[in-house]
Amino acid sequence: MSEKINCGNCGMLLYFGEEIKRRLYMRAIPDEAAVLAGYGNKCPRCGAAQSTDSVKIEIKRRAVHES
Ligand SMILES: [Zn+2]
Repeated sequence: MSEKINCGNCGMLLYFGEEIKRRLYMRAIPDEAAVLAGYGNKCPRCGAAQSTDSVKIEIKRRAVHES
């Protein structure tokens, strides 16, 4: 599964990669809130305040087998 987080206001891509909840290693990003905190809880493009409720979180199943 992959995960994508976009600003709920302007659509700026804030995170794209492994589904955060399923990451068993690389604990540098424990959850979505930590991703937003990395941006100071603000969108770097439009400056809108970001929270796990305001952003768009998309989780997608991978079409190909994970290597
Ligand atoms: Zn934005």
